[in-house]
Amino acid sequence: MTISLSSIPGNPPNMAHMQKGCPFAPRCDFAGEDCLDHLDPLTEFAPGRLRACNRSVADVAGAGVEAGGDVQ
Ligand code: SF4
Repeated sequence: MTISLSSIPGNPPNMAHMQKGCPFAPRCDFAGEDCLDHLDPLTEFAPGRLRACNRSVADVAGAGVEAGGDVQ
């Protein structure tokens, strides 16, 4: 299956000057104050798949996936 992931506006973070919290916070539609302060540790959400985000998978389900797409 082919899926299309949408991009988000803005530029990637400067890895030489990482700030506190989630590096995607300035560009993320789901960011909250907590995202500016910390980033939850990596957790396995599916076999062999890791994620680090302060929101649950259910909270962001479908975000950034074009219609008809399916992230596996
Ligand atoms: S932790 Fe998740 S919700 Fe928060 S800014 Fe980063 S990607 Fe977005």
